[in-house]
Amino acid sequence: MSNPVLIIGAGVAGMTAAVELADSGIKTILVERQETVGGNALDLYKAFPTDDCFYCFEGNRWRPGIRKCFYRSALTDQPNIALRMHSEVDDISGTPGKFTVKLRVGPEYVNPKKCTMCGLCLEKSEAFRLLSPQCQPQAVVYDPTKEDDGAKQAEEECPTKAINLGAQPTEETVLVSDIIIATGYHEMQPVNVDEYNYGKYPNIITQLELAKIIDPNGESGGALVKPSDGKPAKRVMMVQCVGSRDENYYPYCSKICCIFALKHANILTQERDDVHVSVVYMDIRTYDRYERYYRDSRDSGVEFVRGRVSLIEPRKDDTLDITVYDSLLNKYLKFTVDLFVLSSALEPPKGTDKLIETLGIKSASGFVGIADPASENEVVVGDHVYACGTALGPAEVPESVTQARAAVSKILQSRK
Ligand SMILES: Cc1cc2nc3c(=O)[nH]c(=O)nc-3n(C[C@H](O)[C@H](O)[C@H](O)COP(=O)(O)OP(=O)(O)OC[C@H]3O[C@@H](n4cnc5c(N)ncnc54)[C@H](O)[C@@H]3O)c2cc1C
Ligand code: SF4
Ligand code: SF4
Repeated sequence: MSNPVLIIGAGVAGMTAAVELADSGIKTILVERQETVGGNALDLYKAFPTDDCFYCFEGNRWRPGIRKCFYRSALTDQPNIALRMHSEVDDISGTPGKFTVKLRVGPEYVNPKKCTMCGLCLEKSEAFRLLSPQCQPQAVVYDPTKEDDGAKQAEEECPTKAINLGAQPTEETVLVSDIIIATGYHEMQPVNVDEYNYGKYPNIITQLELAKIIDPNGESGGALVKPSDGKPAKRVMMVQCVGSRDENYYPYCSKICCIFALKHANILTQERDDVHVSVVYMDIRTYDRYERYYRDSRDSGVEFVRGRVSLIEPRKDDTLDITVYDSLLNKYLKFTVDLFVLSSALEPPKGTDKLIETLGIKSASGFVGIADPASENEVVVGDHVYACGTALGPAEVPESVTQARAAVSKILQSRK
């Protein structure tokens, strides 16, 4: 019998690969460093290109309980998928086709198979959290740095004995035939981009943070509110290319931030009558079918200013005075806004460089690079090593899913 396939990262791409391989009868080990699967898509509300709710749209095959993005129960119930949460790859050795992989498997403080989400521990201690009603595995998570008497009490009283506060990380060595890298992206935290004062004023946020605010499952129930005081926000300014196309940070274009900024601008203006959005940009890059978002946003009254933000001044009520140089009009414009949203660069997640070095594969601007840029094998990054989704660079969900399927198809072909 062939060895299983190792998939690193359980975002949309990794989950797609795991489910498709498992459905084809191939065993997989799916390693995820976070406590929940879903990756960055977990916090998104409506999704381009269809504008469906990320939580609700079904996969292209009907399978009860499975959502396109989260593959919900499939991951925990499918016997061919061994899910390792809170875990990372420590070392990879061996030869292509016969890799020996050392895993660091995180401590399992709450056993997801036993947790019934009764909520008792959440009431007892702030060390327990429910990440999202959509999270998989469906279980609360525990933060050991917040251990208190309430947590110990919860351990004793948990009706299903799901809690083990003394759990320790373990090591596991596995033999795998192929490796799929699906480690995704990280939204750059623009703390070092001084001109935008991110981290200094609470109402300056990133696009992923905005997505969490307008998410109906979020803290405000989807209401557009200011982080400073929870009061409604009505005037929103977005600024593009923060940290992207900038030699001081990332010289590349992050490819999808124009689209998600316009998606958010459309959601804000079309779902609310009293919200005004302005977008400060260098160029609007809406490739392929996404030009529609640009047209829609202009039709719904979104204001576009080509130029640069010159000055941000906080007011006493936590709103912000913004001065923008409009390069088309050649003059300075003044705005007062409730929320200032940065379309921040998408960067490789922590640890990508180590993975690239360990496997001896190529890098492309810090993301995983394909083995032969001249070939059409866009998911082959080494001998028996594949990558898919945003591990290869910024991409939308449909592209990530297509690449995951391409990697699966390569593995199936190689086993014939
Ligand atoms: C604000 C915003 C809005 C967006 N809106 C849309 C939209 O409407 N429609 C759309 O199609 N796309 C949208 N996107 C893009 C979408 O988020 C991505 O296409 C999608 O999440 C990519 O999935 P992925 O699996 O490649 O990566 P990720 O979602 O990044 O998943 C990667 C996973 O790998 C894990 N991981 C990373 N490194 C390791 C490691 N070393 N070991 C173990 N695990 C690891 C991570 O924890 C994560 O769970 C948006 C992006 C942003 C920033
Ligand atoms: S008390 Fe136990 S079963 Fe209830 S939510 Fe907490 S861990 Fe889960
Ligand atoms: S996609 Fe748009 S906002 Fe993002 S880096 Fe490219 S031009 Fe700038």
